[in-house]
Amino acid sequence: MRLIFRLFLLLLLFLFILRPLLRSLLGGLQSAVAKQEPSIPAGGELKKDPVCGTYVSAATSLSQKVAGELVYFCSSECQAKYRARV
Ligand SMILES: [Zn+2]
Repeated sequence: MRLIFRLFLLLLLFLFILRPLLRSLLGGLQSAVAKQEPSIPAGGELKKDPVCGTYVSAATSLSQKVAGELVYFCSSECQAKYRARV
């Protein structure tokens, strides 16, 4: 009986040690899946919305020229927020 108890403790210890490892492994898998996730129209260049941080397609998003550089927005609301900020 004592041996089983010891094995059980060892198993718990192993789980405790391996848990962060497993989590990082799973996290790596999730980010790998997430990287394939965004559905961008073919040839569309991705631009970051400076307001909400969303990546938007340059072809389909709203854009505005700021200081000679085009800035892209996911929505007119973000564009309005940006305008209010500048
Ligand atoms: Zn936005």
